[in-house]
Amino acid sequence: MKVPEKIYTIPVHDALLQTEECPFCYLYRTREEELLKYYLGPSLMQPDIRIETNRVGFCPEHWHRLYERKENTLGLALILHTHTRHRAELHLKLLSKIANLEPGSDAAPRRLRRQSGRRGSEVAAVAEEITADNVNCLICQRIEETMRRYAQVMLWQYVNEAHFPQMLAESHDICLRHFPWFLTVIDSDLRNTEARTALISHLAQRQMRILAKLDVDLEWFTKKFDYRNRDEPWYDSEDAVERAVDYYGGKRYQE
Ligand SMILES: [Zn+2]
Ligand SMILES: [Zn+2]
Repeated sequence: MKVPEKIYTIPVHDALLQTEECPFCYLYRTREEELLKYYLGPSLMQPDIRIETNRVGFCPEHWHRLYERKENTLGLALILHTHTRHRAELHLKLLSKIANLEPGSDAAPRRLRRQSGRRGSEVAAVAEEITADNVNCLICQRIEETMRRYAQVMLWQYVNEAHFPQMLAESHDICLRHFPWFLTVIDSDLRNTEARTALISHLAQRQMRILAKLDVDLEWFTKKFDYRNRDEPWYDSEDAVERAVDYYGGKRYQE
């Protein structure tokens, strides 16, 4: 991998220095914010991007996020209109296949079809295509590409910059949504075997410590509700519930 560009190293640096949330949640949120602004702003004037938004569109969460910003309702209406026109064309073809089913043709419930050895029905195929369309999302796709690049930049820095392992060790804990994802990137992209084993061990040990600490702190949090412990100190437990939810769900979902 080449020396990474500043457009990637600066956000990675910021993500590791902030202390509020998982560095990957931070990077996700920042990139998501940029893209939401982009799709409600400059992208509207670019015919090639409009072709993409018409064809791919957004996932349920990102349609909502675009709407909730209330930044450019006309812009969103334009995207929605041309996307809907595209979907209508596509879905009219799909839906016409099941809009006038002959009795008995494809209408047997799945359970009965399976018993009689028949395979998927037209109905199942239509449902599958619509579901695939619903989860397709330009914002999710572009976030995923950039997140992978950020993770690769971290791996490059871990191998090539002496201060980086310490910086990573001192950063905020990685949430449980991003931990297995980061492991997968390390597993596929980190070629240097020494760095690879050191980093994986470091991350695994750290996760084990987080779990052990959460266990102790959550237990004490629940015990504090017992009137006999009322005058005992909280130790580290006061924010244990918040920390546990951040750990399992990532900070993003609490906003
Ligand atoms: Zn995270
Ligand atoms: Zn999405």
